[in-house]
Amino acid sequence: MLWPDTTSRTDSGILTIGGCALTDLAATFGTPLYIFDEATLVHRAEHVTAAFSGRYPNSHVAYGGKAYLGPAVIRIFARAGIGLDVVSGGELWAALKAGINPATIVMHGNNKPAAELRMALEQGVGLIVVDNAEEIASLEAIAADLYGQGPLIGTKVPVAIRLNPGVDVHTHAKISTGIVDSKFGFPLWDPSAQVAVGMIAASNHLSLQGLHMHLGSQLDEYNSLPEAIEHQVAFAAWIRDTHHIDITTYSPGGGLAIAYTEAETEGDPDEWAEVIISAYTSAWSKHNLAPGTIVVEPGRWLVGPAAVALYTVGSVKRIEGVRTYVAVDGGMADNIRPGMYDARYTATIASRHGSEPTEEVRIAGRFCESGDVLIQEITLPAMVPGDLLAIPAAGAYQLPMGSNYNAMPRPAVVMVHDGQAT
Ligand code: PLP
Repeated sequence: MLWPDTTSRTDSGILTIGGCALTDLAATFGTPLYIFDEATLVHRAEHVTAAFSGRYPNSHVAYGGKAYLGPAVIRIFARAGIGLDVVSGGELWAALKAGINPATIVMHGNNKPAAELRMALEQGVGLIVVDNAEEIASLEAIAADLYGQGPLIGTKVPVAIRLNPGVDVHTHAKISTGIVDSKFGFPLWDPSAQVAVGMIAASNHLSLQGLHMHLGSQLDEYNSLPEAIEHQVAFAAWIRDTHHIDITTYSPGGGLAIAYTEAETEGDPDEWAEVIISAYTSAWSKHNLAPGTIVVEPGRWLVGPAAVALYTVGSVKRIEGVRTYVAVDGGMADNIRPGMYDARYTATIASRHGSEPTEEVRIAGRFCESGDVLIQEITLPAMVPGDLLAIPAAGAYQLPMGSNYNAMPRPAVVMVHDGQAT
């Protein structure tokens, strides 16, 4: 699905989402404008949770909040019983400010500063996923300070270890994280992960509960998951045999793909759940381990297709024999993905019925960089200044990676539902 569930067109060709005409939204809030559809968010949240809990009740969804951490969005997910994965003190602060229960929050990050670890402990974050040896030592020192005496004496910090299974996946190198050459996780093929377990086992204030990994994002096939899950579970068996610690929480991370153009198909939560659950079930039985809690962390799939980015066309420049540049009033500061990893998008005119698509154009932004291009090539009806251009699948990894480059303000964000925009 490319567009939000509630997308339709009026007789005069105006695109509407959640019962709101995009022309009205542009007039009220200005452009660039990001429009999230509440119905799509609710529907997606229900779909993912049902896909897992329907197959394996002891499973849990934690939204990969880095995809987009809008307070209204994470509250919708929390109401659907979805937890949250954060990667920094800033994300944790935003989540707490939105009223998210800290016990449902998992804290990630490959280099968490001590101050942010302390904040996570003080706020009662549910699980800390450690990613390097220095962090384990730092966490133990902070926990000793907080729980070595006083009313919380003896409290243990629940931790999981992020593993790097060294498994290749089919996605862009910049969003591939479980490969051998990665900054994330403890390598499983050398002693690093075993040393990490030893440090936690010897600590006074840390309790090893989980194993985590995340192979990459925008995964369009799940072939690598069973192999990586087998490595993870085999490691849990080694932990049991060597340290007599039972791992109770297992996570294969997130990565479910979405479609950005008509030519792409999005990942199917049911298929994803099927692969993950059957891989864990057979690996647990092979290694004679008790079934644990499975925690999955989809980010992009939950929010990406729920939002549309809306721009106003400012100029149409036809360079004879070369190409036509259509420049819009946003660009790389609200969407760095095309520049960062060659992401492709599609678009439509939102303010009128277009005639037949006749002209191949490049959609450029308004920032002072030649690389500020949103869509390299797209065939659209002839565009004129003032047209509104809508780009779908805009909900994930756009606004959170945004900047104020060229001292440009950030776009407004609205949530639409039943004809109301908030
Ligand atoms: N979990 C972890 C640890 C991640 O690093 C990421 C993304 O980078 C996610 C979950 C979410 O991934 P996606 O948005 O591809 O589902």
